Order: sequence, then structure tokens, then C-alpha cells
Amino acid sequence: MKNSDNLLEVHPQEFVEFLNQANIRQFYFVFDRAQKKIIASHPELQPIADFILTDKRDFLEHEGLFFRVTEKYDTLLGAFVHRTVRGQAAGGVRFWQYDNLESYLRDGLRLAKGMTRKNALAGIWWGGGKGVISHNPSLDKNDPEIRAYLYRQYGEFLTALRGCYVTAEDAGTNVTDMHNVFSQTRFTTCIPAGVGGSGNPSVPTASGIVCGMEAALDFLNLGNLEGKTIAIQGLGNVGQPLVKFLFEKKVKKIVAADIYPELVDKTSAQFSEYNFEAYLVDRSDASILFTECDIVSPCATGAILNKTTIPKIQAKIICGAANNQLEDAARDDDLLHERGIVYVPDFLTNRMGIVTCADEQFGYVTSDPFIEQHLTRDWEFSIYQTTLRVLNESGKTGVPPARVAMRLADELSMQPHPIFGHRGQQIIDSLMNELFSE
Ligand code: NAD
Repeated sequence: MKNSDNLLEVHPQEFVEFLNQANIRQFYFVFDRAQKKIIASHPELQPIADFILTDKRDFLEHEGLFFRVTEKYDTLLGAFVHRTVRGQAAGGVRFWQYDNLESYLRDGLRLAKGMTRKNALAGIWWGGGKGVISHNPSLDKNDPEIRAYLYRQYGEFLTALRGCYVTAEDAGTNVTDMHNVFSQTRFTTCIPAGVGGSGNPSVPTASGIVCGMEAALDFLNLGNLEGKTIAIQGLGNVGQPLVKFLFEKKVKKIVAADIYPELVDKTSAQFSEYNFEAYLVDRSDASILFTECDIVSPCATGAILNKTTIPKIQAKIICGAANNQLEDAARDDDLLHERGIVYVPDFLTNRMGIVTCADEQFGYVTSDPFIEQHLTRDWEFSIYQTTLRVLNESGKTGVPPARVAMRLADELSMQPHPIFGHRGQQIIDSLMNELFSE
């Protein structure tokens, strides 16, 4: 058995083994704002709390981190609540495999903080959080029965957390999984359309990317999208409608790449009447980013803007849907800025997923003004206006745009919810003494 000092280095399943032997099924780390320390639910877990507290990279005074191990299948479920000043923590639940406990915790911390910023910049009344389920590699993650069990357990877990975190769909999680979560808790969004959910948000996400591109072009006084050449990495759920919207805006040419031949063939056929060129790449081929064009739009995976790729980029603007495009947020924001490339921060333009699903309990209106305002030119918090505000500020101060956007987001994230105030923290406070008294 591991001792509690080196738990961060062990595989999440070894950590689960440690918890089982210590008879711990649920645990938490809660930030004590007054004393500026993190309180662990169990003394043997305090070294983990101390590690998180001293971490400068991913920890940003997260209000509470909650965990449970499933009775069957030994799977670690986590709910990472970053900041709930604007409302309960909202963000998707990821089902992913990790090499060690530290990378599992870091992913949750980083993603939760990212959701606070995305939601605040979007002007929606939600705080930020993220769920992470660590995939137990001894299980077949595609087995429908195992998945159903795990996601129902996740729903039960959220019910026990009383709504300080409200989940949604994220990488590794699908619509059926969300249905299973919903069967056990009301604290979820992104449920299937058949039971009152908002359905697939990828089309509005693509519209949001177009707004970001238009703002960046305006910032550079380059006119509109007409006649421009765009390179798109990834022809998936967002990439495909993006191609359509861009041709509607009369772009001159689109070059795109994907790793799936079916998608390359399908889109080539679909857009055969336009100046559209799609080609097949393997996963490590980033050549699409180096296309001679006006705008590069990363719509595949994260960390693609880095020391190796940035020097080869020829476009003036980068604006796409992929999450966490900068491999190293500070370094790569600087590198792009030094090269005079305008980077539109992903968490600013790819908001439409959370925007369409976060408030689905308030019902639906055709062409919903609350949703469509994000895609307008005039609303203060629209993607266009926020992008322009961030780029103008960056231009004025010389501070790279992702950093400007983060600063603005952090400021907005401290505005209390107009009706409920900082209720998420109250929920956490009330949980502290009750939920985990086993
Ligand atoms: P998706 O999985 O449907 O599409 C991604 C596409 O990228 C796939 O077709 C895949 O084959 C391709 N791809 C992967 N690696 C590649 C590579 N190295 N080169 C070229 N293509 C590659 O995902 P999506 O829903 O279209 O989302 C795209 C990105 O935007 C993801 O990073 C996602 O997290 C992010 N995002 C999506 C939404 C949304 O509403 N769908 C919202 C916010 C953020």
C-alpha cells in the first residue's frame, strides 16, 4: 500500500486501492478563504490538499473539490468547483484516462478555472466547474452497462452535492451518458432533446467562431470575410457548419484537413461547388496550420499552438473552436503576440456550447434572443463585442489577448449573481459538516 506522501505520483487506480484500504469512499478538499488553507476531509489526504494549495499553475482558490469512488468498478468520480460568485459552478464532465493522480487533479483544476472564465466572459449567470471521471483501464469503457452504471453513479453523486456543481457534456461523454446522469439528478444540463434538452450545440458554436473572425478582421481593418482564405483544422461537428457559414459569407477559398477519410470525402462532395480543398492528415501532421491564408481556425484538438508550430504560421489571425489551443498559456500567447499574429482566445469564441445548454431549464423560444444576442454585433457581451474589447485593450496595452481576456474574465467572475448571490459557497459550507460525516 502507498503511504499518503507519494499519492500524487501513483496511478489513479492505485490511489483508489489506497482509498479502499483506508475505507474512504468519499472525500473533499475545501478552500478556507479566511485562513487561506485547504481543508481535507481525511487527515491522510492532507498532503494532497497542501500540494494543491501551493500549486501556482492550476490552483486558483477553487472553492471545493469533491470525490467519490463507485462501489462497483472502482472508478474515481470528481466534481471540481472553481468559483460560484456568478452562480452555481457549470461545466461538462470529462471521462478520461490519466497516468497519475497529479495529472487527474490538474486537469480538473485547470478545466474548472477555464469554465469560470468562459462563463463570465459570456455574461451568463453561472460560475465555473468541471467534472472528471477517471477511466479505470481494466474496464471496457464502451460497454453500455458499465457506462450506464458509472454515469448514474455520477448523477447520484451530484445530487449529494446539492447543486454547487451543475454538470454538462464534455470529452468522452455522450448524449446517452447525459441521459443516465439526468435519471439520478436535476443538477445537469445538456440532456437529450427528447427529454427537454437543448440538443447538439455545434452549429451555434460554429456561428460564434464566425463572429470572432469578423471582430479580428475589424480590429485589423481588413474588412469582412468576403474574399478571404481560411484554413480549418478538423471537419467534425463544428468544422462542417463552419465551412458552410464561411461560404455564405463569400470567402474566396477554404482549405481543411482531417484525420478521417470519410469526413474528407463527405465534405469534399458537400462543398464541391465551392473553392474547397480538404485533405487527409495523420494525427501528428499540423501542416494545415501553416497554410498561406488570412485566418487559421483550429477546430480539432488542443495544445496545437506551441513553440514548434507558431513560428511556421503564416496567417494574420487565429480563431477556432478547439479548447486550450495554447500549449502553454503564457508562453504561447507571448510568442503569437511577438509574431504579430492576432489570436482570438478560444474560451471567448467557443462559448455557444455552454450558452445553449446552461439555461435549458428555462424553456425554449424559437430564435431565442437570450441565445442569439451572443451572436449579434451590438450586445455588450456578444462574442463580437467581447473579442473587439479584448483585442483593442491588447493593442493599447501591448498585453497579449489571452492574458487580457483572462483578466477581464476574472474581474467579471467576481460579480455576484443578481438573485442568489454567492450561493454556491453557501451550499459548500452547508455540505462541509453534513455530507461527509460517514
Ligand atoms: P469533433 O470531434 O466532432 O471534431 C473534431 C475533428 O477534428 C474530428 O473530425 C477529428 O477527426 C479531427 N481531428 C482530430 N485530430 C486532428 C488533427 N490532428 N488534424 C486534423 N483533424 C483532426 O469535435 P467538435 O465538436 O467539432 O469540436 C471541435 C473542437 O472544439 C474540440 O476541441 C471541442 O472540444 C471544441 N469545442 C466544441 C464545442 C461544440 O459545441 N461542439 C464547443 C466548445 C468547444
